[in-house]
Amino acid sequence: MTVVGVDDTDSRERGMCTTYLAARLADRFAERGSVERRLLVRLCPAAPHKTRGNAALAVHTDVEPAAAFEVAADLLSDVAETDDPQTHPGLVVAPGAPEAVPEAVAAFAGAAVRRLVTLDEALAGIEAAGYASQGWKTGRGRIGALAAVGAWAALDDWTVERLAYRAAERWGTPRDVDESTVFQAAEAGYPDAWDTVDRVEGEAVCVPHTPGPVLYGVRGDDPAAVDRVAAGIRSEPVATWARFWTNQGTDAHLTAGTMGALRDARAYRVDGTVATAPETRRGGHVFLTLADGDEALPCAAFEPTKRFRDRVRALRPGDRVTVCGEVTDGTLKLEKFAVRELVRTEAVVPTCPDCGRRMESAGRGQGYRCRGCRTSAPGKVEQPVERAIEPGWYEVPPVARRHVAKPLVRGGFDAPIHPER
Ligand code: ZN
Repeated sequence: MTVVGVDDTDSRERGMCTTYLAARLADRFAERGSVERRLLVRLCPAAPHKTRGNAALAVHTDVEPAAAFEVAADLLSDVAETDDPQTHPGLVVAPGAPEAVPEAVAAFAGAAVRRLVTLDEALAGIEAAGYASQGWKTGRGRIGALAAVGAWAALDDWTVERLAYRAAERWGTPRDVDESTVFQAAEAGYPDAWDTVDRVEGEAVCVPHTPGPVLYGVRGDDPAAVDRVAAGIRSEPVATWARFWTNQGTDAHLTAGTMGALRDARAYRVDGTVATAPETRRGGHVFLTLADGDEALPCAAFEPTKRFRDRVRALRPGDRVTVCGEVTDGTLKLEKFAVRELVRTEAVVPTCPDCGRRMESAGRGQGYRCRGCRTSAPGKVEQPVERAIEPGWYEVPPVARRHVAKPLVRGGFDAPIHPER
């Protein structure tokens, strides 16, 4: 077996995307041998030079390493020569089974999913493992290429995406996809296939808006699930398609964090208590602050998270929660949260038992009284408070989902779930 990792062949100008390149690469391997699987690995999404979809690709094939290297280098050279200046392709070829890569290579892959790794770290890893590699231009793509090589050993939760590609002459033109069939197929395929559509926003999430070669991408738990959904979608002709194993929808980016010890450009799962009431600011963004002892953590649900903001607005100071998301400039961008414990009562000024009116303060530390009835009360009284949210996990809707974020419907969470679809 040979593992071929490639990365950084995306081009905004020419609408190329690395998944398409990997699919073509796998096709070339299939002419010479067999292809075991294609991997689409979403790396730490915080990488500053990357767009939202920071993806690295690997192909597992029985083509001999030297021949596989030649085929891949040939294809990447074409891309590097003709593509835009932001594209810095990298190629890493590893002999042997993907589950048998050295521990250090798997560790590098795990790190690349959770934090920014450097080209120097990648080059050291490639050299230590004795892999063949090549970089074009800055060769930055070797970071993702090595991560893609190590990913199969590093990660244990894998989902599937079936990508359908457009004929080249249609790239950049409006996509012709019958959305009603997308919604029907999504309904039939749920919950094994997820994030195909957003029913509330009425959006076919699986159809991208970018000018690239992808017609649509169906995501789900297994190959049969995504194949069934794709079979139900009516559209312009599908030129080619490919199925990738991927860490999308797995929360592979999250690590357990402690307030006060969080770093920018990493994503965490953090426990805390709501310290300030949620506040909606200009642009519709919702902010609140969590506290844990003396530490505080500002959290935000931005406007594109749509109805998720209503869940955040339903929180009150004192609620105990677990929040998940990436930290940028000290603020955690909420992807999902769990309500652990809700404040169920609030202290209010007592009402007079005789006339039913609100009592007045009798002076600092003097409690409350009703002047007319001469009744009094020693202090505020606890009263039940209506809550518009229940314990359990809440998430952004499919339309706002980050690639790597795990949809609640996939299960395995430590509290009841309230999935969005
Ligand atoms: Zn009274």
